[in-house]
Amino acid sequence: MARADTIRYINRQIVLNYVREKEPISRAEISHETALQRSTVSLIVDELKTRGLIYEVEGESTGGRPPTLLRLRAGACMAIGVDIATAHTTMAVADLVGRVVDKEVFETDPDMTATLRKVVSVVQRFVKTHTNIEGIGVCVPGLVDPDTETVIFIPHFKWRNWPLASELSKITGLPVTVDNDANAAALAELWLGRPEIRDVRDFILVLVEEGLGTGIIFDGQVYQGVAGGAGEFGHMTIGKGAPVACAAGSEECWEAFASERSALARYKQRRSDLADSHITFLQLIENAFADDEDAKEALIETAHYLGLGISNLTKGLSPEAVILAGDIARAWPLISSELRRTLAASSICSGLPSTPVFASTLGDHTRLMGALSLVLTRKFSPVVPA
Ligand SMILES: [Zn+2]
Repeated sequence: MARADTIRYINRQIVLNYVREKEPISRAEISHETALQRSTVSLIVDELKTRGLIYEVEGESTGGRPPTLLRLRAGACMAIGVDIATAHTTMAVADLVGRVVDKEVFETDPDMTATLRKVVSVVQRFVKTHTNIEGIGVCVPGLVDPDTETVIFIPHFKWRNWPLASELSKITGLPVTVDNDANAAALAELWLGRPEIRDVRDFILVLVEEGLGTGIIFDGQVYQGVAGGAGEFGHMTIGKGAPVACAAGSEECWEAFASERSALARYKQRRSDLADSHITFLQLIENAFADDEDAKEALIETAHYLGLGISNLTKGLSPEAVILAGDIARAWPLISSELRRTLAASSICSGLPSTPVFASTLGDHTRLMGALSLVLTRKFSPVVPA
């Protein structure tokens, strides 16, 4: 994207976010709060008005002429988000501020054709029930080619070379955008995140799940690298003898030290009575909050390795912030001090203060919101005509 286009795109994100959070708000207030020039704000507002996304209302007069305030016309643009995860697929219809109006969850079928068939049937139901649906965003736990939006590889299911975007688009007649879940989650923080990251345009999102992925945002856009391969930091070498192997079988990767599976393995090492149980990561977190010391220790040790990896990333990329997403974000009160301690200890070499790290501002819905944000990104990107 050319620099001027990038700036316009980022400014649109900023103005939309301000209207979303602070509506009703005047042009002057947006200009004041964002340090964008009044004329820039007016141009963007006019464009968003023309597109039917925001509208004007009359504010209360404080003596003189009543001010003109802006509101979001949220129902004007609806999107379908499809979050294909290893256990479940979550599908939802939401407006452009991420308000979900319809939702369906089903088990992801290990057969990709069966999963596609189910996705299509839910899309067809959504389209019958809701109006103004502009597109479908899909996020998957694997590698996606950003040019063709073909799923290159999903390790969990061993799915390869799946032309998901073109197949789904052909059947439903809607534009479809597909991306990796960590990239999508990062976009969600940008479009729908809370004020903590509202003005941050360079950050890394670390998505901790069964595996571990990262989404890199530079200049308000996902950094894709060649063939979408950027962000595979889950496979950077952290040490030897991790409690589990990564998806590719190595016991040296960050993922092997800091994923949900590694935390569960640490917990089971401490609790031999649970060795054969099918305890989930969420149960581990619940136990930790219920003062199970072994569960707490397993999380804190995992947080230490998360911190080591994050510290490597921040040394190399120097982002403004790092966001931690996935169910681990629920354990934030238990892990944040260990995470910060590790980061502070390893920031000594660089001589720079450690980068702020915080839990996802979107809670449990980061990936679903990510899928929806793919539609927003497409809609507002200057590269693809709206
Ligand atoms: Zn690996």
